Amino acid sequence: MKTEIQSNPLLTWVGHERKPLIIAGPCSVESEEQLREVVLALKDQQVDMIRVGIWKPRTRPNSFEGLGETALPWVQSLKAETGMRFATEVATPEHIDLALKYGIDTFWIGARTTVNPFNVQALADALRGMDDIPVMIKNPVNPDLALWVGAIERIAGAGIKNLAAIHRGFSGLGKGRYRNAPVWQLPIELKRILPDLPLICDPSHIGGKRDLIQPLAQKALDLNYDGLMIETHPNPDEAWSDASQQVTPARLGEILAELRIRKPQN
Ligand code: PEP
Ligand code: MN
Repeated sequence: MKTEIQSNPLLTWVGHERKPLIIAGPCSVESEEQLREVVLALKDQQVDMIRVGIWKPRTRPNSFEGLGETALPWVQSLKAETGMRFATEVATPEHIDLALKYGIDTFWIGARTTVNPFNVQALADALRGMDDIPVMIKNPVNPDLALWVGAIERIAGAGIKNLAAIHRGFSGLGKGRYRNAPVWQLPIELKRILPDLPLICDPSHIGGKRDLIQPLAQKALDLNYDGLMIETHPNPDEAWSDASQQVTPARLGEILAELRIRKPQN
């Protein structure tokens, strides 16, 4: 029987099968200088893809919601200059059109979008026919596995073959150690249901604090995750969003060097 989700296509798409796939970059693009500084620093590290926050669906109003189209020409020229791949969050069909216009090559669906089947279906319909574009689907903010699977099914149903899931933790009641509780059993169950789907951990949004990123990333690799997405900023304390969880490119290099990577099993 033909399965809609192929074996680790996102990993092969980046040009090699090295695990883990490393995605790093700023929570939000804030200026051309900030983007340039971080991209040039990440280019010399073991980073496969740059993440850029262009449209930022924030929980509360009156927060920075991203520079939008203004930032896209900067991404386009850095892509030409460095040859790096770039991924961004898309929440509407218009975001998809604009991101494609400026050469962004990978999309992800954010946790606040995955919760809404009509929004996800609108994105799926906009993606139909673009079979090769990689799309990563974050878990919904709430710990609802069926909603996460449903969003993946909608995007797969539009013919997208390069799919991955991103585990970014789940909102809960009260304040715990983590910004978003990892609830590891949910991504583990997702991997059981969809064993060929690459699973990427976002320790930045799970931890919410810089010093939790390394242990969370290690835990994910111990569980045989396929990749990591880590928010990286040239000057994290001054970041316009998620300041407490971003790390400098230099710290990212240390985190990656400290990680113990599981040997592939035969
Ligand atoms: C982000 O990636 O910066 C972001 C807003 O993430 P999430 O959708 O996981 O909250
Ligand atoms: Mn963020």
